[in-house]
Amino acid sequence: MKIINTVKELQLELKKQGKKSIGFVPTMGALHKGHIALMKQSIKENDLTVASIFVNPTQFNAKSDLDKYPRTLKADSEKLTKAKVDYLFAPSVKEVYPKGMKSKLKVNLKGLDKQLEGAFRPGHFEGVVQVVHRLLDIVKPTRLYMGQKDFQQFTIIGQMIKNLRMKVELVVVPIQRDKDGLALSSRNVRLTKAKRKWAPIIYQNLKKAKRQVGKKPIEELCAEVMVALGKPRGYKPEYFSIIDGHTLKEVKEWDDSDYLIGVTAVWAGEVRLIDNMILKKK
Ligand code: AMP
Repeated sequence: MKIINTVKELQLELKKQGKKSIGFVPTMGALHKGHIALMKQSIKENDLTVASIFVNPTQFNAKSDLDKYPRTLKADSEKLTKAKVDYLFAPSVKEVYPKGMKSKLKVNLKGLDKQLEGAFRPGHFEGVVQVVHRLLDIVKPTRLYMGQKDFQQFTIIGQMIKNLRMKVELVVVPIQRDKDGLALSSRNVRLTKAKRKWAPIIYQNLKKAKRQVGKKPIEELCAEVMVALGKPRGYKPEYFSIIDGHTLKEVKEWDDSDYLIGVTAVWAGEVRLIDNMILKKK
């Protein structure tokens, strides 16, 4: 695997490769098996796979979260080499956002960025759209690989691709979990032992919601799950909602949509965990 730090060098390399399909997997590093699943799928479906590691400052609304974000480039590049990724693009902030290159990107996200994560993390999705757009412009991949773990994120990027008529296919990879059900995340390493012990309750409650589809009223179910997610010491759920998978709007009645997603964000001490599950899809 080649490690590349500049836009110029990456574009030169890809040009040298000629006409080949390129799979692109953008990440912020601190790689785990969830990321590797994306790499594996890209390798299977493309001639070349480019992974990027870039902790994007514009998508963090709390500087402390940005500062605390784990940075493990050496271990990451070993994992990517083992997975047989072709190129690791690890640019500096200056390389991604050169001075004077102001983002004039205007994308109609149809309100997809305002609810759920968008409501709790103002400006977050603007930052995500900005960086993914810039990275797509640099790499010009055939396919873009993103995780279902960040449901709202891939939905918004899908909308951006559609809106700007970009020539890239978005591929969504299912959520990879630990044995006990906790969705893999780079933030999990920051959980204390006591908080980690209780973390499977998120998955358990998503599964409970799935079992209740069409039974208990949605409002009652969501209220119950909120109580359950707040039970362990230091656990504070921000939201648990049942949404339409296309519009991301909350659904009030089971029959209001044929694509239902349970979505949640929970503070486990200092760590914010997000998760989701497809409850119904026609
Ligand atoms: P991140 O480095 O956290 O920005 O994640 C990079 C990509 O990996 C995003 O598309 C995430 O949705 C995806 N991802 C992160 N965790 C998981 C997981 N547990 N399962 C599947 N995809 C994931």
